[in-house]
Amino acid sequence: RGGQAEREIPFAKPGSLTKVFAIASGKGGVGKSSVTVNLALALAKAGRKVGVVDADIYGHSVPAMLGVADSRPTQVEDLIMPVPTASGVSVISIGMLKPKREQVVAWRGPMLDRALVQMLADVYWGDLDVLLLDLPPGTGDVAISLGQHLPGAEVVVVTTPQEAAAEVAERAGTMASMMHQRVVGVVENMSYLPCPHCAAEGKEHKLEIFGSGGGDRVAETLSQRFGYDVPLLGSIPLDVSLREGGDAGKPIVESDPTSPAATALTAIADRL
Ligand code: ADP
Repeated sequence: RGGQAEREIPFAKPGSLTKVFAIASGKGGVGKSSVTVNLALALAKAGRKVGVVDADIYGHSVPAMLGVADSRPTQVEDLIMPVPTASGVSVISIGMLKPKREQVVAWRGPMLDRALVQMLADVYWGDLDVLLLDLPPGTGDVAISLGQHLPGAEVVVVTTPQEAAAEVAERAGTMASMMHQRVVGVVENMSYLPCPHCAAEGKEHKLEIFGSGGGDRVAETLSQRFGYDVPLLGSIPLDVSLREGGDAGKPIVESDPTSPAATALTAIADRL
């Protein structure tokens, strides 16, 4: 928008009633995007008006998980209209800002910063109760930009139970704190696989595929480091239908709401 003054980010204005949560992780593949879309749907089910910003430059998988992979935002005058999903969540993705779908986002700091501001300020979000941002994994440019533009955003850190994942998750949390953002809690994903054979016999047996304790460890470390309580918000088991739901564009909170994974996700959303 050459020459024009930048539009203000509505969520950064004093008195904004929108709660902004950035979903962060230390590394990719821990289920950050899956958690983001399911929390969005759980919050929408609870009657909140929800928007999702997919700022994951490497993944940008949120539109596909929400069943709007082929949708493009429309433009009304100089405002971008976010893409509505069937469940009433509004979405904008960094992938939607690329001219061609197959193009790789090879942007660096300033370009990413502009893309983030565009998704926050130039999109007509309306009156949202909650805005969720799916951040790229790690402690990179987007996380720093977000901290500069929206220091009031609160951060949810997603990790797996694994030691190595927990260590990098702590770094992502510490980065948020350096940007003066509050870390509201930790989500442990892929916590265990309920053994289906035992379940068929009425017994409960948890297979701890990725080990155990990562979520607790991150919560304890960050609480100590920051001097305030960073709780473990919940643990989500491994579930084939969670993966299938994401692939099919129908997240598990909608497709299988009574499953243990969906129940855990809904309980986490209730705590936000
Ligand atoms: P990230 O955003 O951290 O890179 P994704 O949400 O894209 O991770 O998840 C990576 C893959 O793992 C996806 O295929 C997703 O469906 C799958 N997945 C995530 N969490 C679970 C889970 N609890 N159970 C089964 N599959 C999962």
